[in-house]
Amino acid sequence: HILTLADAVATHARLSPQKIGVMDTTRSLTFRQWQERASRLGNGLLDLGLKKGDRVALLAYNCIEWMEMYVGLSQAGLVAVPINFRLSAPEIAYIIKNCGASACIVQDTLSEKVDAIRHEVPIASHRYIYFGSAAPAGYQEYEALIDASDSSTPPIVVEGSDTFALLYTSGTTGRPKGAIRNHAGNAQIAIATALEMGFTRNDRGLLVMPMCHANSIYFCVAFVYLGATVVIDNRKSFDPEALIATLANERITFTSLVPTHYVMILELPAAVREKYDVSAVAKLMISSAPARKELKLAIMDYFENGKLHELYGSTELGWVTLLRPEEQLDKLGSVGREWACSGAIKMLGADGNEVPDGEVGELHSRTPYVFDGYWDNPEKTTEAFAGKWCSVGDMARRDSDGYIYLVDRKSNMIISGGENIYPSEVEYVIASHTAVKEVAVIGMPDIKWGEFVQAIVVLYPGQTATEAEILGWCRDRLAGFKRPRTVVFVTEEQMPRTATGKIQHRLLRDQLLSAAI
Ligand code: ATP
Repeated sequence: HILTLADAVATHARLSPQKIGVMDTTRSLTFRQWQERASRLGNGLLDLGLKKGDRVALLAYNCIEWMEMYVGLSQAGLVAVPINFRLSAPEIAYIIKNCGASACIVQDTLSEKVDAIRHEVPIASHRYIYFGSAAPAGYQEYEALIDASDSSTPPIVVEGSDTFALLYTSGTTGRPKGAIRNHAGNAQIAIATALEMGFTRNDRGLLVMPMCHANSIYFCVAFVYLGATVVIDNRKSFDPEALIATLANERITFTSLVPTHYVMILELPAAVREKYDVSAVAKLMISSAPARKELKLAIMDYFENGKLHELYGSTELGWVTLLRPEEQLDKLGSVGREWACSGAIKMLGADGNEVPDGEVGELHSRTPYVFDGYWDNPEKTTEAFAGKWCSVGDMARRDSDGYIYLVDRKSNMIISGGENIYPSEVEYVIASHTAVKEVAVIGMPDIKWGEFVQAIVVLYPGQTATEAEILGWCRDRLAGFKRPRTVVFVTEEQMPRTATGKIQHRLLRDQLLSAAI
């Protein structure tokens, strides 16, 4: 038997019925209200004819309903398929078809995307549910469904090995894949998070990243199991000043952000920093993409009380490593060592054998909360697992103290004249040029060398730098085989990105090859 997310809400509804379990900028729910509305939603979905194991597509901006949906679906044994609101209608159709969703819950402002694909996805017409305002024709109203349904716990037995959600990866390494996450994984991640981060039920965690994203879900579950309060930033796009105001006004103790968010906070005028008191922020997380050392130092300076943690993990593996606050200065470029409860890590060479410390290999881990495989994709599932060890294709090395340094995604690796080149290393050098705002490095086909190194650069507004200047910059700082042969300048908008904002190296290469940019 495992305590599911829904069981956790039910526990706190008994222990602290009047405590606010979740809130956004417009609404809040006590644990008791949360449990009741989630049960009604679960029963309502079962009344529509859904059966345990059926997939339900969820499309919404960050809002309180996400928490009702995750808990309600989990009570009814239904599988959540959260979809990133930034995806286009065809990308959404791909996911709905791929997972064979039987129902779809959509927020009013996103319904156009659903309307555009209804004719091509296999969802019965009475199973489109709408929230946010009065439902138009063709939709079942979310609030009406909740009102009309029973508030008792849905009569479904949910086991730890049952699927909680299919989390579609953002697609930096190809078509999105549905990572199968189970209920036991939620409980295990909650334990690992609470133990390492030292959260208590008095914490107030702010969720900023999209709630369809694994990072948000994993932190959420830790808060829910503890009975702490989740505060949801439900702005449609990231607003650094509004974030600082929320941290101050809501006395937030923890938040998790990606490097770009921190960059935007640090760009705020000094007056904003003076205006708001963010001293309640005791813990901060940075993750999901490489964080430059200078950035981390600036964050530590900005949030004087906020102890900075960096984590490395993924949708599939959950949390893998943690760089703890007291280790930041000594091991700034590292993503740390294993979390308590995350299990062992090893780096494997191309021959499948472990590489010695200091050498780059493919990072494999044995997290107890590892995913169950990719939905309907046995080939990619087999690729990810080597026995009980699992990899998502990150290349890394370990130092003699056991600290892990990420190098790059295996799929981004360039092979030129038989030498392996990791784009991130070249990107790091080019990004240190003052005129460069953003850079991506890719391998382009070459008859003689197999591939050659190509840099794609976005300059800061008002700054100029020529190709010769960037090449000269690299000449002084990189070995010959790693240096770009050519540099292409593009605008920020021309850089292809995933829904989570990461640059899509493969797509960039395809676009350059087809001369689309
Ligand atoms: P896809 O798997 O489809 O390529 P994705 O990369 O966005 O999509 P996620 O699970 O959202 O998948 O992100 C996990 C990846 O993010 C990791 O495999 C790693 O490459 C990168 N990552 C996570 N944490 C860090 C970190 N602290 N520093 C650098 N990169 C990180």
